[in-house]
Amino acid sequence: GSKNAGKNRYTFYSEEMVQKINERWELEQGLKKAMAGNELEVHYQPIVGSSGNIRGLEALLRWYHPVMGLIPPDKFIPIAEETDLIVPIGTWVLEKSCQDITEWNNNGYENLYVTVNFSTKQFEQPDIIDTITHVIERTGCNPSNLKIELTETGIMQAPDETIKKMNLLKSEIPEIEILIDDFGTGYSSLSYLANLPTDILKIDLSFVSKLHDPNNRKVVNSIINLAESLEMDYVTEGIESEVELAFFQDKKCERMQGYYFSHPVSKDEIVKLLKASSLPLKE
Ligand code: C2E
Ligand code: MG
Ligand code: MG
Ligand code: MG
Repeated sequence: GSKNAGKNRYTFYSEEMVQKINERWELEQGLKKAMAGNELEVHYQPIVGSSGNIRGLEALLRWYHPVMGLIPPDKFIPIAEETDLIVPIGTWVLEKSCQDITEWNNNGYENLYVTVNFSTKQFEQPDIIDTITHVIERTGCNPSNLKIELTETGIMQAPDETIKKMNLLKSEIPEIEILIDDFGTGYSSLSYLANLPTDILKIDLSFVSKLHDPNNRKVVNSIINLAESLEMDYVTEGIESEVELAFFQDKKCERMQGYYFSHPVSKDEIVKLLKASSLPLKE
C-alpha cells in the first residue's frame, strides 16, 4: 500500500492506475445496467425571463448508482460516449423530456419548452432524425417546445457533416430550435458560424463567473453582438449572484439560467416551481 510509496514510487503510481482502471470498469459495467435498473433520472433547470418567469427547462441527466451514490454527468457522460451507450441513453433522455414537457404543456404551461443535450456521437448516428421524429410522434410533443443543445466543440469536430445533419433536421422538423452550448470555449471558425442553422447561442458559464474582469466583459458584450448580427437569440448560463443577474437584466436578457434562480431539480420540484409561477428576482 502507501507504506511502500516512498521506497518505491513505481508501485505507488501503478496502484493508483489500477484503481483508476477498476473505477472506470465499474462505471462502465454499472452504466450498462443503469437504464434497466431505473437508476437514471432527468432533472430540470429553469431558464428564466427578465421578470423571473420560467420560460424553459434544461434537461440534465442524473445517475444514482446503488453503491456509489450520485455520479455527476461529467464523470459518466464521457464513458457513455466512448462506449456508444450514449446512443440509447440519449434517446431515453429525449423520450423522458418529451413526455414531461407534453404533460406540462397540457397542464396549462403551453409555451414552456425543454432543451435536451445531445452528444456529437449521438447526433452523428445515421438514424438520428428518424429517432427524433419517432419520439415526437410517440410522446405527442409539440416540436416548437423542444430544443436541442450541441456544444460548440462538438459541432466543430466535423462541422460540414454536422451542418448537413442540422439542415436535414430543420427540413424535416422546422419547429425544432438548435442551441450552441458552451459558446466561446470551442474555437468556432467565424465562417462556419455564419452558416450554422442554429437559433440560440448559450454563453458559457466561465464568462459569467468572470464579469468583474473588464476585458472579459468586453468578450461577453461581443458575443451578445455576434448573436444579434447572426440573428440568433442568446442564453446566459451560470448566473449565481445578484451582480451577475444585474449585468444581464441591464441587457434585457430574456433567457437566464443559473444557481441564482434554481439548481437543476427533480420533476416534482419543477412542478412546485411552476405553481409558484415565477422565481424571485431582486430589484
Ligand atoms: P451543460 O449542458 O453545459 O449544462 C450546464 C451545467 O452547468 C450543468 O451541470 C448545470 O448543473 C451547471 N450549472 C447550472 N447553473 C450553474 C451555476 O449557476 N453555476 C455553476 N457552477 N454551474 C451551473 P451538470 O448537470 O453537472 O452537467 C454537466 C454536463 O454534462 C452538461 O453541461 C452536459 O454537457 C452534460 N450532460 C448532462 N446531461 C446530459 C444529457 O442528457 N446528455 C448529454 N449528452 N450530456 C449531458
Ligand atoms: Mg447544455
Ligand atoms: Mg453549457
Ligand atoms: Mg458544459
